[in-house]
Amino acid sequence: MDAPAPSHEHQRGPGERVDPLTGASTWIVPSRQDRPNLPAHGCPFCPGGLEAPEPYEVKAFPNRWPPFPGQRAEIVLYTPRHDASFADLSPAEARRVVDLWADRSAALGSRPDVDYVLVFENRGPEVGATIAHPHGQIYAFGSVPPAAAVELAGGRTAAGLGPDAPGHRVVAAAGAGWRAWVPVAATWPFELLLAPAQAVPDLPTLDSDGRDGLGRLLVDVVGRLDRLFDAPMPFMLWFHQRPFDGGEWPEAWLHVHIAPLLRAPGVPRFVASGELGSGVWFNPVDPAEAAARLREA
Ligand SMILES: [Zn+2]
Ligand SMILES: [Zn+2]
Repeated sequence: MDAPAPSHEHQRGPGERVDPLTGASTWIVPSRQDRPNLPAHGCPFCPGGLEAPEPYEVKAFPNRWPPFPGQRAEIVLYTPRHDASFADLSPAEARRVVDLWADRSAALGSRPDVDYVLVFENRGPEVGATIAHPHGQIYAFGSVPPAAAVELAGGRTAAGLGPDAPGHRVVAAAGAGWRAWVPVAATWPFELLLAPAQAVPDLPTLDSDGRDGLGRLLVDVVGRLDRLFDAPMPFMLWFHQRPFDGGEWPEAWLHVHIAPLLRAPGVPRFVASGELGSGVWFNPVDPAEAAARLREA
């Protein structure tokens, strides 16, 4: 029997490669090099622009530059106001964004080729946002990605997200038991976790009060991050929720991770060799101190 050619052995599907050394997946996407980077004129996300020809309040649409095939990547516009921040949204406007995240999670999650819906945002050019207009993204994966799987398999979501998890590191709270806190072993200097005190598995299941609470809490904490260094904080934000593969996921507990880039005004926190080489993190800001500063901000 012929051995498979190396190129086939490490190719899971069109575009997806599997590293023989680690088993980790990488999507090779040369087409994404062609996407516009911070266009100076004619924002495509403003009403009347390329991606939003009609007036809108919030809007989701397929990513014109998807990282993988099959219409499994979407853009979510938070507001028609180009210069707004999430922190500027009214409670009703933030609620509309939460509702759209939930609706798109349910719609994408119902597809037979989708097992996991990752709602996320890269905010600021420092973390790779190529268009300034307030927006987030959604990737719908054909399997549960490793970062989500490791939390679900660990049997630790109650300890990591439940009523006692914030300790003295609570930063803010909102309705329906939603709290934001600096995690005890934060890997980013002003990292935040947001979760309801009682388990809710996913965005579509979140009830009306829970959706209002999540929207208000996000507005609150993004405002704190922006005031911390008196400048818009670049950050990476993502939701973890129950896989949409139809399986039993008793550990699933909806939550939000926020990884702010800066450790001091204008000073980014780099993930460098000691960390990439070891898989162990080193954080220069004590989580209790970070929480105190964010409470004051
Ligand atoms: Zn715009
Ligand atoms: Zn998580």
